[in-house]
Amino acid sequence: MSTHSSRVVFVTGAGRGIGRAMADAHADAGAAVAYLDHDAALAEEAAAAATARGVKAVGLSADVSDYAAVEAAARAAEAALGPVQVLVNNAGISPKSGQDGRRAEAWEMDPAEWRRVIEVNLTGAFNCVRALSPGMKALGEGRIINIASVAGRTYCDIVGVHYAASKGALIGFTKHLAGELGPYGITVNAIAPGRIDTPMMRGTASGANEAVRLATPLRRLGRPEEVADTCLFLSSPASAFVTGQVIDVAGGWLLT
Ligand code: NAP
Repeated sequence: MSTHSSRVVFVTGAGRGIGRAMADAHADAGAAVAYLDHDAALAEEAAAAATARGVKAVGLSADVSDYAAVEAAARAAEAALGPVQVLVNNAGISPKSGQDGRRAEAWEMDPAEWRRVIEVNLTGAFNCVRALSPGMKALGEGRIINIASVAGRTYCDIVGVHYAASKGALIGFTKHLAGELGPYGITVNAIAPGRIDTPMMRGTASGANEAVRLATPLRRLGRPEEVADTCLFLSSPASAFVTGQVIDVAGGWLLT
């Protein structure tokens, strides 16, 4: 029996990129997986591919910033797969609305762009915790894994101030929730990826990714599957006594 065979896992932003890799890794480890994405077609296609490999999976569409939609998706996941033990808060955005695919600087940023990033990257994670943690408390076990960023801890000249603020807040959110939920057998940890080769990263201004590669001690960008490996560790029995931690998957980039 595989390490994850009795797990039901709910991954947001699972249609592509890091979220897809984490959801697929859990499916391939034997878990039943709810693939949630903004984009219904992507979520359904990802779940159908997992189902075709013999895994129990469901594709769900919701905007994580919309609490009613998240609540409906959480109940749909439970109806299809059973009680959810693992929540991976991955959905996130990093707008580059400045000139030539660069970030907008704080003094020129549209306040609506600021609000949207906080609503998706931070409130989205709260919404999922609000909808799914009561079920974990009732089970007496659970794992919550928040996908933050090294940019949440230190200055990174690629991302905007909204993104850095949202990811820094996600780290505080992780530590606080570890305290609240620990007594119920629920661990809460974060992963801080460095530069990972995904559609989000490819939207960055030209030259930026090569500069990151050269500034990364391991001299390469990361792969979504490498973030998925750490996520699998955090949802497995091997990390049962690990909570409130942030694990960098960054090749040593922006070490603090
Ligand atoms: P990505 O390629 O853009 O994929 C993100 C996925 O999330 C997309 O399928 C997107 O769907 C979905 N999504 C966006 N907003 C959503 C919302 N409101 N509700 C539901 N789903 C939503 O991004 P990625 O690079 O895989 O990043 C995944 C996570 O890792 C993010 O939290 C990101 O901040 C973090 N991260 C990435 C890197 C990196 O270098 N790639 C580094 C550090 C941290 P739609 O586009 O259809 O909305």
